[in-house]
Amino acid sequence: MLLTIGGAGVLVSALSLLSLGPVQACAPRTAVDTAVTVASVVADTAPVAPATAPATADEVPAGARILMEVYPDFVKGYQDGKILMSDGTTMTYDDKREKSFLQKLDDADLEDMFAFTYDRSSWVPGHMQDAGRSRCEAFFKKMYGASEAQVRKNLVTVSWFGQQVKFTRVNHAADSLKAVAAELANYPDLKRYLRSSGTFYWRKVRGANRQSAHSYGMTIDIGVKYSDYWLWKNPGKKETDKITYANRMPRKLVEIFERHGFIWGGRWYHYDTMHFEFRPEFLTGHESVE
Ligand SMILES: [Zn+2]
Repeated sequence: MLLTIGGAGVLVSALSLLSLGPVQACAPRTAVDTAVTVASVVADTAPVAPATAPATADEVPAGARILMEVYPDFVKGYQDGKILMSDGTTMTYDDKREKSFLQKLDDADLEDMFAFTYDRSSWVPGHMQDAGRSRCEAFFKKMYGASEAQVRKNLVTVSWFGQQVKFTRVNHAADSLKAVAAELANYPDLKRYLRSSGTFYWRKVRGANRQSAHSYGMTIDIGVKYSDYWLWKNPGKKETDKITYANRMPRKLVEIFERHGFIWGGRWYHYDTMHFEFRPEFLTGHESVE
């Protein structure tokens, strides 16, 4: 099977795949007795399909292509409704279940992560658009670590405007944060927003049973003094209620983070404006997925 990854200018071919049978939604499954060979990434100019590649009529969903593009160390291919991971396991892309808004947050498969729009064309989030709050937990645990101890092994120290913060080196997230810092240093007027109140913290989301993005070490909170959170502004409201928006973070700050693969919690209907999370899948330029 050959996949062209838009933008990256590479071809990834996944060969010798055997049927893995039914796989539980979003759950990693070790491909025992299964040879998953992912051929090397080749340049556009290289000879195309090896003669041995099995023909496949697979339609690769746009979201799966994006995951291959932005997480190349982990996502190596797609076949028969599953993404192929670099450790030989597979994950179901779409469990085909209809989900409510809350189920998309609490019980997300990979496809559900693209159910919301990360809309940079407007400064106020669309109704119930929470792109990025939906995380397929098994996928993030696979990449960043499945326990506090495992995530810690990947943490490195990043200098952050007089603070030393811990961030994961996985997926070059720490390098991306350093690039954000280097760019922010050119804007002294933004300095007052930059004090960090936290990066890595292995915990569940307040009031929910899902893991916080801070658990994975690819998320930073800054500028608490100037931040707004949907529940502070709308006390007593539920996630399904209509709420009012508030933000005091400057646009320039947000744009610099976004340029380096970080989404901003201020673009969520359920906003959290101190929160920046390394989620390059929403910043590829073609993240609008049907
Ligand atoms: Zn946060």
